[in-house]
Amino acid sequence: MTFSPADSLRQHGIPATAQRLAVLRAVSSRPHITADDVAEIAGIQIGTISRQAVYDALGVLVDKGLIRRIQPVGSAARYEGRVDDNHHHLICRECGRVVDVDCAVGAAPCLTAADDMGYEIDEAEVAYWGRCPECLSEEQESTLVDSSTRPRQDRWSAASQEISNIQPAKK
Ligand SMILES: [Zn+2]
Ligand SMILES: [Zn+2]
Repeated sequence: MTFSPADSLRQHGIPATAQRLAVLRAVSSRPHITADDVAEIAGIQIGTISRQAVYDALGVLVDKGLIRRIQPVGSAARYEGRVDDNHHHLICRECGRVVDVDCAVGAAPCLTAADDMGYEIDEAEVAYWGRCPECLSEEQESTLVDSSTRPRQDRWSAASQEISNIQPAKK
């Protein structure tokens, strides 16, 4: 699939400005990119681009379906060029890393809600929250360091020491 960013803008009926092209290229270069990072990368490409111009361009591209916006709870919005396949995301609670994951089983079964309440459903957005392998292995390492430098037993005896120091003073 070879198409230039300018072509895909035209195909979607969006006038191709330098700013929109730079923003689209930035989103294509890094999946799940934040607006801040888009501004930085687009700025490197075309010199200066205002934060507002970045948000405007992102808004147009999302509206026209060229890119998709995901909004993890408690985190900055992310933008990606992978659209229309109903894929989902794994999100790390600790470092915020976001990765793609395909639909739970086969082709978009999650579009079949337990009860659609009369809605016509066209998209299901699933965020699987947890901790990424990097954060898990970092935690395991730091647990090892913690237990070797400060054994549990010491904390307990230190605490009971304090209590026994306080009690006589109350009398
Ligand atoms: Zn992580
Ligand atoms: Zn994605």
